[in-house]
Amino acid sequence: MNAPPLTWRVARLVERRAETPTARTLVLDVPGWPGHLPGQHVDVRLTAADGYQAARSYSLAAPADGERIELTVQRVPDGEVSPYLIDVWAPGDPVEVRGPVGGWFVWRAADTAPVLLVAGGSGVVPLMAMARARRAAGSRTPFRLIYSARTPEDVFYADELRRRARDDRGLDVTYVYTRAAPVRWRGEPHRIGPADVNTHGWPADLEPLCYVCGPTGFVETVADLLVGLGHQPRRVRTERFGPTG
Ligand SMILES: Cc1cc2nc3c(=O)[nH]c(=O)nc-3n(C[C@H](O)[C@H](O)[C@H](O)COP(=O)(O)OP(=O)(O)OC[C@H]3O[C@@H](n4cnc5c(N)ncnc54)[C@H](O)[C@@H]3O)c2cc1C
Repeated sequence: MNAPPLTWRVARLVERRAETPTARTLVLDVPGWPGHLPGQHVDVRLTAADGYQAARSYSLAAPADGERIELTVQRVPDGEVSPYLIDVWAPGDPVEVRGPVGGWFVWRAADTAPVLLVAGGSGVVPLMAMARARRAAGSRTPFRLIYSARTPEDVFYADELRRRARDDRGLDVTYVYTRAAPVRWRGEPHRIGPADVNTHGWPADLEPLCYVCGPTGFVETVADLLVGLGHQPRRVRTERFGPTG
């Protein structure tokens, strides 16, 4: 049977939280929201007074919670949609949302295979939804997150990740910094490479489920690294945050 067509629903902004100087988490109320799985995304559509429309995709940052959803948006300089969502959108202003979208890049609590999450920049958003869903389900499935960010100031959810790495048994978090690292960080800033994935991921023979998300080049590099390390391509699920305009 075909899935019912997705419909646009009017969303209202409930709360906006700063994650970094250039990223905000937006909490939205979406009457009629049907629920979603961690890893799925939505399309967000803006309509100008003259009828001009622009739509972009944004991952859902938190597990299903009734009619409330969370997105985390990174401001793209000169972008059409992200600066509006971050700086202009006010509580009460309607914006349309369609979803949930995507059925492959999802994690289900019934999956007990170890999980490797590899994030590049804002690609951490759907992976955070998975880590949060693991906690909400009381799952003991071991999770490892390798998170590549430019600098410590660019890390989304920094306090929560620190807390989860301490309190959520079986969740391991490793950072790779590409531009500047904290003072007491071992090593030099670098782009993610085989040593990072080999040391902080899972051995391929454990058959983990791997989720890789970020800019297109990052995702392709990491997916190739994983396959090169012996992971089955069908166990490597990817989501590319390329431009969608
Ligand atoms: C499945 C999916 C999920 C996504 N989830 C998120 C998310 O959770 N959080 C988030 O912040 N973004 C996410 N994105 C990216 C998002 O859809 C937009 O592409 C981004 O917000 C830029 O839109 P804009 O209208 O501001 O910029 P545009 O007006 O589209 O682009 C302005 C300029 O920036 C360049 N550009 C566009 N997008 C990007 C980008 N992603 N990175 C670098 N340069 C870009 C364009 O080529 C152009 O030159 C996701 C994309 C996809 C496909």
